[in-house]
Parts: sequence; structure tokens; C-alpha cells
Amino acid sequence: MRTQRQVVDYSLQKRAVLRELLAGRVGAYDVCDASPYLKNAARFHGEPTDQRCPICRSENLTHVHYIYGDELKQSAGQARTLAELPVLAMTLREFQVFVVEVCLGCDWNHLVEQYLLGRDGLAGAAEGGQEQDSMGGAAAQGGRAGRRRREAQR
Ligand SMILES: [Zn+2]
Repeated sequence: MRTQRQVVDYSLQKRAVLRELLAGRVGAYDVCDASPYLKNAARFHGEPTDQRCPICRSENLTHVHYIYGDELKQSAGQARTLAELPVLAMTLREFQVFVVEVCLGCDWNHLVEQYLLGRDGLAGAAEGGQEQDSMGGAAAQGGRAGRRRREAQR
């Protein structure tokens, strides 16, 4: 999605866990501990991938997208399908997405990444008529940097 921002990638942490496992410092039971809730979320809202599970290598991983944010109210912390995210991103200003990979075969699970979505990040959406009118040509040239500076001063 083009509007993803403040993306945090957890592949390094995942590799570290897998290294620990290979070295025998943690057991498969410690890392293959997907809760019934997570597995249900994977079944009903998950996004199938073509990545093999790094542990059992017999199932493909499923990505579950959890959403968090004040604007979500009771929906905060729920899983959403990937297809639902752009719709939410059009209606909400900002919310956090956590992507978790799950193996329904052996219960391996790990955080993949997190990012922000929402209207605040859409190009042009934040640059309302007001600002453009008062800024004129200056807005067209460096308006983004100017806005960031003004926000910092608030
Ligand atoms: Zn597995």
C-alpha cells in the first residue's frame, strides 16, 4: 500500500529467533505458541502467503493484520483482512497496523512489521484549500517541509 508510513520491519528479530532455535538455545515449544485467538484470526481474516513456514516447512505462512488506534474505538485490537485496510485508511485519519505471520500447522508465529495507515498520509489530503490559498507558490515549492516546521512550533 502506497500510504504506509513509519514502517518498522521485524525480519532481523525473526532471524535472531530462528538462529536461537537452530542453536538449541530456545525450543520449538517456545516459539510455536500461537494462541487460539491468533489462529482463528488467521483462519477467518488471514492473508495466505506463498512463504513456507521456517519451522515445519510443510505449511505456508498466513499474515494477520491487527489494527490499533483511538479512532477505532471498540474495533481496536481486532484483526482485519488485507482488503479492508484501504477502506479504513480512507475513512480514518491514522491507525496502526501490526502484521503477524502464523503457521496453522505448527503454531509458529512472529511479528513481521508494523506501520501507520490513514488519510493523514495521503498526498494532498492534508494540504487543504486554506493552506494552498494563503501560501500560494511557496506551498508548491517546499510546502511539505514548511508544514512540518510549523507543526513542530505548535
Ligand atoms: Zn509451521
